[in-house]
Amino acid sequence: MRRKLIAGNWKMNGLKADSLALAQAVFEKSANQTNKSFDVLICPPMNVLGMVAALPHNDVLIGSQDVAETVKPNGAFTGDVSAAMVKDLGASCAIVGHSERRQYHHETDAVVCQKAENAIAAGLIAVICVGETLAEREAGQALDVVQHQIAESVPANATAQNTVIAYEPVWAIGTGKVPTTDDVAQIHASIRTKLAEKLGADVAENMRILYGGSVKPENAKELLSVANVDGALIGGASLKADSFWAIAEAVM
Ligand code: PEP
Repeated sequence: MRRKLIAGNWKMNGLKADSLALAQAVFEKSANQTNKSFDVLICPPMNVLGMVAALPHNDVLIGSQDVAETVKPNGAFTGDVSAAMVKDLGASCAIVGHSERRQYHHETDAVVCQKAENAIAAGLIAVICVGETLAEREAGQALDVVQHQIAESVPANATAQNTVIAYEPVWAIGTGKVPTTDDVAQIHASIRTKLAEKLGADVAENMRILYGGSVKPENAKELLSVANVDGALIGGASLKADSFWAIAEAVM
């Protein structure tokens, strides 16, 4: 039985005061919700990651939005933050391969795979993002693109404990557009099939596959009830504790 994961990606948003208030509000909502049937993750930007992780946060997981590509835990890599440093700040997860990293920083599947390996080696859970562009979907290539990304971006030592997949169609991120539930079901099933080929049936069966892309309180229940959808990765709607938590409550 896969426990659903509700994950917030704050992206490059928030100065100290606002971020700490948002984190605090999420922690309070989580603390008030006894016997949760889902896990909660927030991924603040690097400027506040350590401060957020230093707050008492009970069972809410804290993650970074990226880790450095180098396998070295430290060294002459100006501007980079290693997985070991992220772990040292108190985080337990790291998003890698978000489409904004793939697009704006030209991260290839090989880079994403290396980053996932670094996260895992540091003891973090890697949240590996995949998803097709609009042009790829319109060309009928969505399944192939996503399967290829899974084949190339997921490290060979990925397990259901150290890795989560997030399917995020690029054209659905921040646009208010969402795929049909049939399309989501088809891609998620194909991801699980590809994971089984790569990692074995047992790992594939237990690995969580999140959906991301314009998840809102209004569509959360429908998306979260699709077969093989094991949670959500939420951008815009995670920047308000109320809307983030309303999505989490859709799990129940
Ligand atoms: C994201 O960037 O991971 C995301 C899903 O964004 P949004 O929810 O705003 O579409």
